[in-house]
Amino acid sequence: MLMKTLLNHVQPFKGFVYKDAKLTKSYDKFEWPEDRIVFEIIPRKNSKAFCSGCGIQAPGYDTLPVRLYDYLPVLGVLTYFAYARRRVKCPDCGVKAEMVPWANGNSQLTLTLQWYLAGWAKDLSWKAVASKFRVSWDSVCRSVEMAVEWGLDHRNLNGIKSIGVDEIAHAKGHKYLTLVYQIDADMRRLLWIGNDRTEECLKGFFTWFGRARSNRIQAICSDMWKPYLNVIKELIPNALHVLDRFHIAQHLGKAIDEVRAEEHRKLQENGYEAILTKTKWLLLRNRKNLKEDQEVSMKELLKYNLKTMKAYLLKEEFSLFWTYSSPAWAGKFLDQWCTKVMRSKIEPLKKKAKMLRRHKPLILNWFKAKGELSSGVVEGLNLKAKLTARKSYGFKNPEMQKIALYHQLGKLPTPEWTHKFC
Ligand SMILES: [Zn+2]
Repeated sequence: MLMKTLLNHVQPFKGFVYKDAKLTKSYDKFEWPEDRIVFEIIPRKNSKAFCSGCGIQAPGYDTLPVRLYDYLPVLGVLTYFAYARRRVKCPDCGVKAEMVPWANGNSQLTLTLQWYLAGWAKDLSWKAVASKFRVSWDSVCRSVEMAVEWGLDHRNLNGIKSIGVDEIAHAKGHKYLTLVYQIDADMRRLLWIGNDRTEECLKGFFTWFGRARSNRIQAICSDMWKPYLNVIKELIPNALHVLDRFHIAQHLGKAIDEVRAEEHRKLQENGYEAILTKTKWLLLRNRKNLKEDQEVSMKELLKYNLKTMKAYLLKEEFSLFWTYSSPAWAGKFLDQWCTKVMRSKIEPLKKKAKMLRRHKPLILNWFKAKGELSSGVVEGLNLKAKLTARKSYGFKNPEMQKIALYHQLGKLPTPEWTHKFC
């Protein structure tokens, strides 16, 4: 009895009443009886039913057998709503089951439970949520899907001034997703996901975003990837376009790694000591961030006359570039650095220097945007996106990976009442 009163208070549904709460037995997968609580629901007297096809009120037709809807576990016991849906004779849809306010369509899960599961699925793996709350993995999936759909429909896209374009590998092999983030100081979130990294793909973002909103974008951060550059130039020529620091560091890092791998292979072929073994991450780090023991290994490595170390020192030298405040002086530094690299005979790094030269004006825009665009933002979002994508590699349906990304990075809104639970 008390349960019924509580529910009427915390989760009333217009047109329906809780009739009774029963403690019954069910059988788990090992055929063991276990307690469960079933809340019986009936339509309020004289209340009308609404068609689940179109949502309009329609005359009654008949009543379906009672079915159970999974609700939040209470006191450690699985609980359900039990309700016999009425069917209506809708002038537009024909004979249809009625709409119920606690569940979407034919779902066996109540919306309350779905929001609850979706909330947990941000902090725990979907598998962990399934096992913790004793639902199927599929139920967690559908809950997250529901939450993302609702969130995408209800989010506010006004006032977006800065965006970042990024890409992540989305499966093994070389398949990429284009991600567009909002990177304003007061709101950083994933806005959009495209299935490729072509011009057409990024154009898809601007078509979706709309002309009026696109015109209000003041700054955009991206990588040096040609298709992105072309589209940005064509579609939002007035926005300040910045090639962000994080992507440039990524390029230099890749070059160093190529040099290292090649030299490592050669050293081994010629029977030298494997001095470059396990140095990949050491070389990718900024020297000033090295821990004490790493600094010792670094000093050791620097004693050898290795191409890798020359490349590493050049990369380290480049970090000075970001300390300039005047674009003119930064530009001079960039020219000198590129000249030095071009003389170095280190092919992978030379390629990157050529690329930097080619994009010099866009790179120098970084100094114009200083203070407004933080270089760490895209990097942070990229890391989080990669982590989420990696966790969802195993998903059979590739669309689920996108849903996982929106769920984790979209800062999607939730209905007011869910804040009590999630
Ligand atoms: Zn209808």
